[in-house]
Amino acid sequence: MADALTEARNDKDARVLHLQWESGAKRALSYAVARGYCPCAHCQGHGAGPRKFIASDAALIGIKAVGHYALQLQWSDGHATGIYTFDYLRELPERAP
Ligand SMILES: [Zn+2]
Repeated sequence: MADALTEARNDKDARVLHLQWESGAKRALSYAVARGYCPCAHCQGHGAGPRKFIASDAALIGIKAVGHYALQLQWSDGHATGIYTFDYLRELPERAP
């Protein structure tokens, strides 16, 4: 069973997405990291290989639950196609490169 996400809170002042999982795990993902590692095909391409990082100062303006496995994040630059699975959110690096 995947570790379900129980909380996603958007702190607009700190530009951080606060996440908490059922297991008690917690993370504070900066907008730069979350937007930079957008998992959509447009940002990541279709090939395998290392995760791509897209530098951006976009703000997080919307969070939508996708089923019971992912979040769709909406950014102020108009980008909203990234489906971030709960596992992906846990695997993201702490900081932007
Ligand atoms: Zn994307």
